[in-house]
Formats: sequence, C-alpha cells, structure tokens
Amino acid sequence: MKPSHPEHAAPAHGAAMQQIAPVICYPVDGLPRPDLAPFRVARADWQKLSETLVPARDARCFDVPAGHFFRITSVEGPQVGDLNLWNAQDLHERFYSGKTRALHGTHLSTGDRMWTAHPYLRPMALITDDSLDWYGFDAFGGAVHDVIGTRCDPYTHNLLSKGGQYHHCCHSNLTRALADARALPLAEAERHVHDVLNVFMCTGFTRDTGQYFMKASPVRPGDYLEFFAEIDLLGALSACPGGDCSSEHSSDSAACHPLLVEVFRPLAPPAGWVSPMVNGYDRSHGRNG
Ligand SMILES: [Zn+2]
Repeated sequence: MKPSHPEHAAPAHGAAMQQIAPVICYPVDGLPRPDLAPFRVARADWQKLSETLVPARDARCFDVPAGHFFRITSVEGPQVGDLNLWNAQDLHERFYSGKTRALHGTHLSTGDRMWTAHPYLRPMALITDDSLDWYGFDAFGGAVHDVIGTRCDPYTHNLLSKGGQYHHCCHSNLTRALADARALPLAEAERHVHDVLNVFMCTGFTRDTGQYFMKASPVRPGDYLEFFAEIDLLGALSACPGGDCSSEHSSDSAACHPLLVEVFRPLAPPAGWVSPMVNGYDRSHGRNG
C-alpha cells in the first residue's frame, strides 16, 4: 500500500509525469477476437452430457471434452465460485489468471478467453455467455468474474487470524476435489491448485489505497456463466465459504449455497473451430544449441 505521507518529496518533473496518459500494455487488436456466431449456432441443438452439483463450502471436479460447452449456474441463493481449469491430459498445463488479466482486463465476460500457463500459453476456454454482463463496472469500480483475486486459502487465514485453522477455504476444497478425482495424495493435488477465475464474485480495487475489495454479488438463482472448451478440460469448482462474499470468507458464518455445473455436447462443432496448438515460441530463450 502506498504511504499516505511519502518520505520523499516529488522531483521537478513529478507532476508532469503523473499527467501522462496510460497506454494499454497488451492491445488486444493483435489477438483475433472470436466470432461468437458459430458458437451460438452450435449451442442451439446441444444436448446435456452431465451435471455436477457442487455442495456449499465444498468443491467438485468435472470433465469437459474439447468442443463441448459448460455452464456454471447459481441455484438456491447468491453464491460465488472459484474455478480451476487444467488440460485433462496434463495437469501442468493449467489456467494462468495473471496473463489472462493482462490480456483481457481485471474482470472477464463474453468473448474473453482463459489462457494456459507457460510454456503452453494457448486458449483453454472461451466465455460464450454471461447473464451478469449488464453489471459492468459500478461506482466503486466493482465488477463480477474477476481474475485479480487468488482463492481464499487456509495459509493466509492462519496468518491473519494469528493461528486459526479453517479447512473449507476454496484452496482446500479444490485440493480435496482434485485428489479425489485423480486419486492423488493431498500434498500432490495441492501443488496443482492455482489462482482462479472468481465466478460471480464482485470485486475491485479501492481508488484511494489500491486495496482489493469485495462486495455482495449481484448473482441470483438462474444466473450463469457459460464456456466453450478449446481443449480437453478437467475443471474444479469450489462454492466459496464466503457465500455471496458480502462480508467475510474463511469461516462458516456466511450463508452458502450450491452451484450447478452442466456439460453440453453440440451436435456438430462450431463451424471453422479447431482446437488450438500450444504456443509457437521455440523455447530457445536466446541460447543456440
Ligand atoms: Zn473462496
């Protein structure tokens, strides 16, 4: 956090520097924006392949073959979800929230992609529909579906609560779900858990101090976020112990609800769609031989 009373006086050029307008780090003009029309056509005659109900304060894994859609839907009451995604064939290729944020901004919506980590860096999922796209950014700078938070975890809770032990943070829920789905020891599964897409969570940074904030999610039963799987995916979704994240997480005090994950198979893949190859960088890093 920046000091309210800086120790160093501004130099002569200080004010002028602060006036310079920002430039976008990664102009997305270089990335082809997906044409959603073929995805909408493919969606028209899809059939449900499976569904998974994620219990409150817990997580479940689900598989989504490449070329299929999946939807996360609020049921029963306002609830946010922490989403992890992996290449179903290689858990090392996983969602990269930091680069997704750099490419698409702090909060995702329809037409944005979720990217995999280095050295793969390719799209793993495309967001094809978002019933909360009307929310936009509110007067506090808050918006839904962020890639700026991490996931609530028992280590941070231990630090901030001076020794507290809480076992249903999203980090632990995701760890147990992955361990169960892939028959992994907990310690090994934990290493694959990563920073999430905060589905339905309403967050931002305070304008004065730059601190991460959360506020009551506008999600209501029936609201959904829909994805198209670009590669074979293993997903894990945690119904956060924060509930709608209007007050606190890392405890059992918030009202929590389940979340529904449904997987759909279109009769034919979207016209023109091909599963993306891994990134084209040659990985020599400037060394020859
Ligand atoms: Zn959480």
